[in-house]
Amino acid sequence: MGNLNANPPTNNLAERIRTEAAALGFSRVRFARTGGAPGIGRYDDFLAAGHHGQMTWMQSGREARAAPLSLLPTAKTAVVLGVDYAWPRPPDPGGLTGKVSCYAWGRDYHNLMSKRLRRLARGLREDGVEVYWGVDSRPLIERAWAARSGMGFVGKNCMVIIPGTSSYLFLAVMLISEALPEDPPTLRDHCGTCRRCLEVCPTDAFVGPMQLDARRCIAYLTIEHRGAIPLPLRPLMGRWVFGCDLCQEVCPHNHRLHSSPDRSSSHDDFQPRTGHAWLDLQWLLTAEDDDINAALIGSPLRRPKPAGLKRNAAVVAGNLGDVAARPALLKALQHSDEHVASHARWALDRL
Ligand code: SF4
Ligand code: SF4
Repeated sequence: MGNLNANPPTNNLAERIRTEAAALGFSRVRFARTGGAPGIGRYDDFLAAGHHGQMTWMQSGREARAAPLSLLPTAKTAVVLGVDYAWPRPPDPGGLTGKVSCYAWGRDYHNLMSKRLRRLARGLREDGVEVYWGVDSRPLIERAWAARSGMGFVGKNCMVIIPGTSSYLFLAVMLISEALPEDPPTLRDHCGTCRRCLEVCPTDAFVGPMQLDARRCIAYLTIEHRGAIPLPLRPLMGRWVFGCDLCQEVCPHNHRLHSSPDRSSSHDDFQPRTGHAWLDLQWLLTAEDDDINAALIGSPLRRPKPAGLKRNAAVVAGNLGDVAARPALLKALQHSDEHVASHARWALDRL
């Protein structure tokens, strides 16, 4: 973006941001006005109910989320960026394998998007524009900004959904000091009377439409939660060893994507890596931690660390009930992490 002129007219700047963002791999770019703190009411309700579980970073970043201008006092526009990541799920290999949420099949989106945002930000700063940007862990409520920018609406499953198109999107928000022509926000509810996502959830993690108790969500339990997975929830995890896609898979707005996959807007970096859509449970349960880390370099699958993945694999092995998992579970009993051992014990008792 170093080709931006000093003090460019705002329309030119908007167009250049769109062009440069597209060249960097962002499939969606929208502009929202700043002011207020979109989504903070629901966010506070979520925290007050304790639905964030062990995600204490959500609590500690609350003040900044409630006052986005504290991040960049000169902010006039929120640039909302999206990357489509959906790819067709590779065929089920069967046997002792666990299912992985589709966002984790390819490269780690945090790293990729951060690199691209940094480049975008660098070009803007060279031209005198002040910038604050973030991906996921930065204190901005991306989905609320996405709704304000009209990129999509927030469905009952709490995801940003582009009506009739997709909810499989990575989001990022960049605050900039230039006032750009804003895109109209999404005001309509496109869920109507549908409740499929609420009804499909195996753990009853939705306490109501757009109200998720993360502590019951398989995605939280298998990725963010440290320590023991509550006993009543383990059988409900089924075959999910990392994340869960059920409440997106049933959403009618994703149906076209599932039935006649058009991946023209999905980024190549998120194509499934071999073996990453279905993880080999015996390998997870028996491999050395260092070998697991090495095999998963550059993948979001590293987030729960080897002990977390082994814990999850033990639960799935217990749920599959296949005695072929016994030797691998016996090895996991010897693991130095007490939770790996206790979940392997639980699984062995179920076989
Ligand atoms: S990701 Fe799975 S467990 Fe979590 S709310 Fe959706 S359906 Fe329920
Ligand atoms: S499954 Fe139905 S209720 Fe849930 S987000 Fe999609 S349209 Fe809305």
